[in-house]
Amino acid sequence: MTIPHGDLLYEGKAKRIYAGSSDQQVLVEFKNDATAFNAQKKAQLDNKGRLNCRISACLFELLEREGIPTHYCGIAEETWMVVQRVEVIPVEVVLRNIATGSLCRETPIAQGTALEPALLDLYYKDDGLGDPLLTDARLALLGLVSSELRERIELLARKVNDVLIPFFASIGLQLVDFKLELGLNAAGELLVADEISPDTCRLWDLSCTDAEERILDKDRFRKDLGGVIEAYGEVCKRVQGACPTPRNCS
Ligand code: C5P
Repeated sequence: MTIPHGDLLYEGKAKRIYAGSSDQQVLVEFKNDATAFNAQKKAQLDNKGRLNCRISACLFELLEREGIPTHYCGIAEETWMVVQRVEVIPVEVVLRNIATGSLCRETPIAQGTALEPALLDLYYKDDGLGDPLLTDARLALLGLVSSELRERIELLARKVNDVLIPFFASIGLQLVDFKLELGLNAAGELLVADEISPDTCRLWDLSCTDAEERILDKDRFRKDLGGVIEAYGEVCKRVQGACPTPRNCS
C-alpha cells in the first residue's frame, strides 16, 4: 500500500526516497527489488521490502536505546519508514568480524578467519566506479571527509558493531559483517542512515554448521542458494521478538 508523499527525491536499488510532510523528514519506501554485483543480477522478491523495513526499524530502535543516533523516526506503513533528512556521506563503511566475501577474494586471508578487532573498510559510494575501496590517503585526497569526521565515523561504526554483535548472538545469529551508511543532519549530528537488514549484513544461523544452510542473508541470492525470502523471514521473526511493536509514525 502506498501512502501520501511528496516528490520522488532519489531512487536507489532497494529503496525510493520521497519528500515528507516537513523539511526535516523524508519517506523511505522499501522495494521488493533484489540486486547483486552492482545490479548485474536482478530479481523481484515478494515481501522483501516489508521484511527489510521491519528488520531495519527494530534494529534502529535497538541502536537508539543504546544511545546511538540514527535517522529513524518510525514506520508509516508496512514498507514505508519516516526518517530524518540527512546529507548522506558518500562513503560506505563495512565492518568485518569474520573474513569472507570481497576480503577473501581480494586478499589471501582465509575464509572464516576471526577478525579481532573488527576490520573497518571504507568504500567510495559510486555505482559507476563499482564502489571502490578507499585508503585513508585517497579519502583525504578526494576531500570526502575531514580527518575529524573520519574519526567520528569509525567510532560510531564500531559502537554499532559492539551493540549488534551481542544482540544478534542473543537471537542465535552470528554477525559476520555489515555495511553502514552515515549522514549528517541539519544540526551537524552524525547519524546511522540507510538500512540495516539481511541486504546489508551477513548473518549466519549459530545453530547450523552447514556452510550454506546457515546463511540467512543476501548471499543466498548472490550464490543462487534459494530460500532467500524464507531466510529474511527467519531473521525478521527473531529480530521482532526483541522489538515486537516498532514505533508508528504515520
Ligand atoms: O562484498 P563484501 O564482502 O565487501 O560485503 C561486506 C558486507 O557489506 C556484506 O554484508 C554486504 O552485504 C555489505 N555490502 C552492502 N552494500 C555494498 C557492499 C557491501 O550492503 N554496496
